[in-house]
Amino acid sequence: MFRKLLVANRGEIALRVLRACREMGIATAAVYSEADRWAHYVSQADEAHLLGPPPARESYLRIDRIIEIAKKARADAIHPGYGFLAENADFSKACGDAGIRFVGPPPDAIRRAGNKIEARKMAEANGIPVVPGLSRAVTESEAADFARRHRFPILLKAAGGGGGRGMRVVRDAPELPRALREASSEAQSAFGDPTVFVEKYVEKPRHVEIQILADGRGAVVHLGERECSIQRRHQKLVEESPSVAVDDALRERMGETAKKIAKLVGYRNAGTCEFLLDAKGNFFFLEVNTRLQVEHPVTEMVTGIDLVKQQIAIAAGERLPWKQEEIRPRGHAIEARICAEDPFHGFAPSIGEIAGVRCPAGPFVRVDTDLVPRSRVSVYYDSMIAKLIAWAPDRAQAIERMVRALREFKVVGVRTTVPFHLQLFQDRRFRAGRIHTRFLETEFEPRPPGGALDAAVLAAALEFRRRESATPRYASPRPLSAWKRELR
Ligand code: ADP
Ligand code: ADP
Ligand code: MG
Repeated sequence: MFRKLLVANRGEIALRVLRACREMGIATAAVYSEADRWAHYVSQADEAHLLGPPPARESYLRIDRIIEIAKKARADAIHPGYGFLAENADFSKACGDAGIRFVGPPPDAIRRAGNKIEARKMAEANGIPVVPGLSRAVTESEAADFARRHRFPILLKAAGGGGGRGMRVVRDAPELPRALREASSEAQSAFGDPTVFVEKYVEKPRHVEIQILADGRGAVVHLGERECSIQRRHQKLVEESPSVAVDDALRERMGETAKKIAKLVGYRNAGTCEFLLDAKGNFFFLEVNTRLQVEHPVTEMVTGIDLVKQQIAIAAGERLPWKQEEIRPRGHAIEARICAEDPFHGFAPSIGEIAGVRCPAGPFVRVDTDLVPRSRVSVYYDSMIAKLIAWAPDRAQAIERMVRALREFKVVGVRTTVPFHLQLFQDRRFRAGRIHTRFLETEFEPRPPGGALDAAVLAAALEFRRRESATPRYASPRPLSAWKRELR
């Protein structure tokens, strides 16, 4: 096993990896930018090294600096987390060249699976269903021609895309030229590659993905699915496992397809095959995410498998300890991504110092966060500040537990998406499982709290205080009034 592991990331995922190392008896090194000097995760590592100024380009994306620090610290492994360098084949290669084990797939597998066009071609060549599309860079006239044959809407996608960026839905011909220019320039600035291809835009599908583990010695298992249909701008906000739309037979078929893809690209370590699922139960391969996912905890909660520990064990050369039939998911888990954003003003980022934070707890509730009092939420990094995960024997109870936990969550100093999640998890359609990837955009409107109820509660609270200060304190406890309960 490794002696020392360097975590090339920040925030909650850095802390998540550090925790796994602690439990495995591996020493740890953290890296941080000037903006993260006082971040909690930095204090949780055995040693910590300054990378550089706050912008990611000058810190968390600096391959040369990270390798230099890892060598100096004599780390024998590097975990990239997600985002930043996690899907960067050059980084995986640079680690190998420096004699340091990269906790992730080999560079070739990242290249083969990470490019959306290459991945589509591989799927098509092997009889794996993909959304109708053109598996190559397209010009305006080719995209227009495709739209004529397959009808609008179509979707322009960046070959190197991720996180929902470099994507444009096109609903009619006049929109096309501009959408293509925008998708291409967004792709160039976000991924350094302007290549854009085209797919038929599937209306109201579900996003269902399969978690896989491959040990690089021929053994591959899948750990079931996660449904991630609750999205905003093609970005996931809520994930759950299992999916209400997947039965045992479909799970088996999707799982076997994911395993086949992993074998075809020579995959090693943890990865995810993403699919769209239509209303008739047809699934279409989207892409492989060659890393740990943000939403990995829901799979951990239902399978009881620590994915980060498994990643590290695989990187160290260990074999997978189970056969497929030994993996038996249990119950239902849901994750809510809590972001420092104002859900009632277009999810605008909210930055500042955390004056106070109280995380939910209690049975079967998990909070993955790096927030502590006086943490700073800055403009430099992703707005996700916490993940709240709830487990229960079934979906209905998991949702109740999620609502209970959300009510316990208090963050003072920035606006968060907690109130948005509270409304979502109480929505009738969500509870019925009638969701799709455009559910939020087309069927759900977060409404700002406030109005008459708040005014009434405030008035009652003020009146309560007036009376309390005017009359002597009560000798015996009284039952809690409905007003007071509401206020609390
Ligand atoms: P997933 O499929 O795992 O949800 P995405 O493709 O949505 O992954 O991208 C990962 C998300 O995490 C994006 O929103 C990205 O901006 C964000 N992200 C990347 N790196 C970090 C990080 N270090 N801390 C927090 N969020 C991050
Ligand atoms: P990214 O790399 O940004 O994660 P994906 O290809 O995984 O890109 O797609 C992200 C999301 O965009 C999907 O979950 C889905 O909501 C939507 N999407 C992608 N391709 C299509 C398509 N052909 N039709 C409809 N929606 C799509
Ligand atoms: Mg994706």
